[in-house]
Amino acid sequence: MAAAAFLARGGGTPRALAFGCLRRLHTVYQSVELPETHQMLRQTCRDFAEKELMPLAAQLDREHRFPAEQVKKMGGLGLLAMDVPEAYKGSGLDYLAYSIAVEEISRGCASTGVIVSVNNSLYLGPILKFGSEEQKHQWIAPFTSGDKIGCFALSEPGNGSDAGAASTVARLDGDEWVLNGTKAWITNAWDASATVVFATTDKSLKHKGISAFLVPMPTPGLSLGKKEDKLGIRASSTANLIFEDCRIPKANLLGQLGMGFKIAMQTLDAGRIGIASQALGIAQAAMDCAVDYAEKRMAFGSPITKLQAVQFKLADMAVALEGARLLTWRAAMLKDNGKPFTKEAAMAKLAASEAATAIAHQAIQILGGMGYVTEMPAERHYRDARITEIYEGTSEIQRLVIAGQVLKAYRS
Ligand SMILES: Cc1cc2nc3c(=O)[nH]c(=O)nc-3n(C[C@H](O)[C@H](O)[C@H](O)COP(=O)(O)OP(=O)(O)OC[C@H]3O[C@@H](n4cnc5c(N)ncnc54)[C@H](O)[C@@H]3O)c2cc1C
Repeated sequence: MAAAAFLARGGGTPRALAFGCLRRLHTVYQSVELPETHQMLRQTCRDFAEKELMPLAAQLDREHRFPAEQVKKMGGLGLLAMDVPEAYKGSGLDYLAYSIAVEEISRGCASTGVIVSVNNSLYLGPILKFGSEEQKHQWIAPFTSGDKIGCFALSEPGNGSDAGAASTVARLDGDEWVLNGTKAWITNAWDASATVVFATTDKSLKHKGISAFLVPMPTPGLSLGKKEDKLGIRASSTANLIFEDCRIPKANLLGQLGMGFKIAMQTLDAGRIGIASQALGIAQAAMDCAVDYAEKRMAFGSPITKLQAVQFKLADMAVALEGARLLTWRAAMLKDNGKPFTKEAAMAKLAASEAATAIAHQAIQILGGMGYVTEMPAERHYRDARITEIYEGTSEIQRLVIAGQVLKAYRS
């Protein structure tokens, strides 16, 4: 109906315009000169995303289908273990490279972006930082090629933002840990071969009683909940992990006993750079789509890009996008230089996620009716953007983190 009405109004064919949106016409990257290696990586990821992800993204979304073949190919390109040293079969790159890769992948397909981000930041990240040498070889190397991916299980049905209130329990029984409880909303759950899971060994110690454990998947005593039917990022699976007397070897404790909350928070600091980058990719895709459409769409005798109302929208979108990108790259560079980056990662995630939702919102406005139908990708970008303000800490939690750090700096 909408497509027929559009044709009757004399616009270009919706399919032709949709195809136009798939091509990269506008790349707003001129703000900072990247090192040559990063420029090459960006081009590789962009080519991959345009060839392998963009043409499939709508179908994957519609079918809620995990992009298994593409994940395997990304493993081949070294995109699943980007800052992991070569000794553990990683790419030995840095977080700036990771940010750039996740942005480009997410520009092609936001679901694929989060799959990659979770494997890199949330699964491999804590093992790389807190694992023993033996654990690194066992739990990292097989997860670098795309054959296997991992997940990170912190949230529970009863607590998300208040992660220190974990009620999943770990009890030592001889040489084994016995896990009981339910973890909620776990990205990659249906497709993962292992998880980092957080459980308490002593509830009276509150967050200091939490430890991190490595659990293979599948394993007896661990079952999956239903696949959540989500608003966006529908090609990535999200489900509960249900532990019922799930036994794992004593050696699967990650880090020291009682260190789990610290491991989770430090992991999320890094993860937020990944989600900020995912948000940038979604925002860039929405921006590309809006500009491409507006250049071709005629109203009152000229393309709508001649209208100042549309130009002002595009200006605000570009400022939000480029500002968020600079914040994200700064957070990544601080991490790469071994500097504190908690505040900067929270700022990047907050700015990029809010930019993505605002830009996707305005992209739909610029497309008018065509923004509201699945013929065009704008509605998917709008749905995909929304989650970036929720997971790995809601926008409210980012503001708490930032305010805490700002006040600390003023008071010291
Ligand atoms: C698609 C998806 C994928 C996810 N993937 C994972 C994953 O892989 N692993 C994982 O562990 N978790 C995952 N999550 C969980 C996600 O991190 C949580 O949903 C998020 O942290 C918010 O927790 P909650 O849903 O329990 O909301 P709540 O914590 O109940 O928050 C509800 C509202 O209250 C606000 N609020 C809460 N506390 C405060 C406060 N102190 N100050 C101000 N406002 C506050 C929140 O900002 C929010 O607006 C995922 C969630 C989704 C939807």
